[in-house]
Amino acid sequence: MNVSDSEIVASVLQSSGFGLTHDPLTADVVLLNTCAIRENAEQRVRRRLEFFRSRKRKHNPNLRIGVLGCMAERLRHKLLEQERLVDIVVGPDAYRDLPNLLHQVERSGQSAVNVELSREETYADIAPVRYNSNGISAFVSIMRGCDNMCAFCVVPFTRGRERSRNAGTIVRECQELFDVGYREVTLLGQNVNSYRDGPVDFATLVYRVSLLSPDLRIRYSTSHPKDCSQELLEVHQERSNVCNFIHLPVQHGNSEVLRRMRRGYSSQEYRTLIERARKVCPSVSLSTDIIAGFCGETEEEHQDTLTLLTDIEYDHAFMFIYSERPDTYAARKYNDDVPEDVKKRRLSEIITLQNSISRKKNQQEIGQVHTVLVEGPSKRSDTKFCGRTDTNKMVIFDRGTLKAGDYAQVEIKDCTSATLFGNVLID
Ligand code: SAH
Ligand code: SF4
Repeated sequence: MNVSDSEIVASVLQSSGFGLTHDPLTADVVLLNTCAIRENAEQRVRRRLEFFRSRKRKHNPNLRIGVLGCMAERLRHKLLEQERLVDIVVGPDAYRDLPNLLHQVERSGQSAVNVELSREETYADIAPVRYNSNGISAFVSIMRGCDNMCAFCVVPFTRGRERSRNAGTIVRECQELFDVGYREVTLLGQNVNSYRDGPVDFATLVYRVSLLSPDLRIRYSTSHPKDCSQELLEVHQERSNVCNFIHLPVQHGNSEVLRRMRRGYSSQEYRTLIERARKVCPSVSLSTDIIAGFCGETEEEHQDTLTLLTDIEYDHAFMFIYSERPDTYAARKYNDDVPEDVKKRRLSEIITLQNSISRKKNQQEIGQVHTVLVEGPSKRSDTKFCGRTDTNKMVIFDRGTLKAGDYAQVEIKDCTSATLFGNVLID
């Protein structure tokens, strides 16, 4: 989401005459777009800020440093006043104000701040400048904010109220991306299932985008389990270019913990949803998010997460230690009482188990043929290309005469828990 937001920021600044550089050490202005979801995300930003501040002191006193996004929203004046780390602080709904704020800093020599949250801002009319893109796969923001108030989560506080972007502008942006060579769009929101623009709900939006071209793949993130509709599952089944992959963050395997987390579903309801998804799309690939060591989590409750992972067999999972975030329901009402070493041990049990499941699932792919969208050279070798299957698995294969944006038939020959290796079939 921050990658996508930074593309909006680049667009706002470019249309005001600012230029982009890929070398932060030659920049006049450095803006860090930040995440506040866990404490270690914030610590990383602080270290980056220290680095740029020291550069400013030693080499470039005119360097302007800004913090954008969720940390800006959360720490507001603290960054400016107490810590004097930055010249400019701008929250996720105030990016249109950036050129003005930068000029203000130049004129006055004082720092500037805008952390107003909005009920309407969706940046619908702004054409993102995709400065870091591979030219094949693009993020398209379809909504902003979140109203769910999960007990552990800071997002509703830093990104404000949920609002959906106008459907026409989304479809148009996807068409324009296709026209300039993109072959995959990922529709982004914190809870895409609650997307609504008049009569257009999320399933309808995905369906509409899927009609643009059979060669445009559609992915989305993140889908909240409490309102993943039957219609959406049917769109997956009906439209071959709507990828056969769903990220459905469960967070925990125990219903009592899920209730404390205020997720709005029980473990059983979640399992029923997975059964429903697999019934409609039998080969659907699934991934999830897991939090280990949430407030009051007992050993038995933790075991329920391991059981759920074993039962469902996700293809992939993002796994985190619970990190208390100020202002959240959990921070106000519960004790963060699972000791750090216990949290770490539980997380490592979760990771070990999930890695073995991911490896097993990948081994089942050996001998299968997948349609892979070629993304470009692989990180490790110039003679290899990488691309993803419809089911969101990364595959490495010989480059041959392929080019980025092609679809290739690839037979899977080998794997690790994270990557598949294959041979391109020539027809
Ligand atoms: N909107 C998405 C999640 C966005 S945040 C959803 O509801 O599914 C991405 C992930 O970060 C969450 O799914 C959760 O697993 C993790 N996360 C959020 N807050 C956290 C916290 N306080 N500590 C640890 N992990 C957290
Ligand atoms: Fe956070 Fe819950 Fe909203 Fe996801 S749905 S962003 S976890 S409050």
